Amino acid sequence: MRTVFDAGTSERIAALGRRVLDGGRVERDEAMFLFGLESSADIFELLAWANRIREHYKGNKVHLCSIVNAKAGGCSENCKFCAQSAFYQTDSPRYGFIDPKPAKEAAEEAARHDVTALGLVAAWKGLNEGPMLDEVCDRVRELSDGGKVRVDVSLGMIKSPHVADRLRDAGVECYGHNLETSRRFFPQQCSTHSYEDRLTTLRILKKAGIRICSGGIIGMGESREDRCDLALELREVGANVVPINILNPIPGTPYENLPPIPPFEALKTIACFRFILPRQEIMVAGGRTKNLRDLQSLIFAAGASALMVGNYLTTLNRPVEEDLQMLRDLGLDPRWDHDFADQDEAEALESRKSNGSSKPAQASSASRLHESPLATADAP
Ligand code: SF4
Repeated sequence: MRTVFDAGTSERIAALGRRVLDGGRVERDEAMFLFGLESSADIFELLAWANRIREHYKGNKVHLCSIVNAKAGGCSENCKFCAQSAFYQTDSPRYGFIDPKPAKEAAEEAARHDVTALGLVAAWKGLNEGPMLDEVCDRVRELSDGGKVRVDVSLGMIKSPHVADRLRDAGVECYGHNLETSRRFFPQQCSTHSYEDRLTTLRILKKAGIRICSGGIIGMGESREDRCDLALELREVGANVVPINILNPIPGTPYENLPPIPPFEALKTIACFRFILPRQEIMVAGGRTKNLRDLQSLIFAAGASALMVGNYLTTLNRPVEEDLQMLRDLGLDPRWDHDFADQDEAEALESRKSNGSSKPAQASSASRLHESPLATADAP
């Protein structure tokens, strides 16, 4: 008879779970053991511990985020998963930078649904100094002054600290820029820019005191090792919000015929990310409805603490009301109030440990992070 209980495996998952609850770290070989779990019994044990870790660090609060395509299509880059690349023939719309009215409407719609943050996302290579930066800052300022939601942006690569400073001063607290996958697998996704370009952007933003929303896409043919290394890289760079997208193959892109990742593999990945990034907001984003279907609510048991709601950039999502009902049914609260403070305490503790100092942590804010030595820890 086939056994569904392996005491050694069970005890090893539990030992790692207890260590993370106690504030300890999972090392790479240990993380790979978790990514390698195969049986549904073992994966459910992993989920149970990931759920405990989420509850321990995040309580019942869930960070909701929605996005608006602030500049669509025609991107000069050749990311193989992306409907907005000019390299591929897709049905994705193309238009210039968003006007004040639709931006304001998107913010009002988000606020009506208890969404914490609205991300303005632009399909272009990056943002430099010039008239476009002025326009972006105007839009951020208008929305921030409206006070309905936190205004996040995702504007591609940034090479100049001055650009990051301008965005921060306009009101940007959090910037979205995914690493997408591991350093090893990235060159197979994109050849028009490098992994290092993306990491440099994150370091410049962090140094400017801007929070980082950075994650990736699973289901592009990457290995478990690639997923593991992405999570470790995100820990290293100090991401605050970690979106996990599940590939939704877009007709016209090189990935249009890729087979979908099994739902359990996606849930296991979320759980492993929670073990590696216990204090971060782990957000399940694009591809959730299509790939997880009836298993969507299990993402929270797997350790997710954040959810992208509303439509995605180029694909549709289910109605927000259904997601809010799912949260209520799970006893979860979308009125997120952590303000990233829980992560700052962890960073401060780490820093004090490595400095051998016992001085208590300061209360946090984006501006204080800017002044903090922690903000420069990852500087290039
Ligand atoms: S840089 Fe962004 S918008 Fe451009 S192709 Fe890559 S993922 Fe798409």
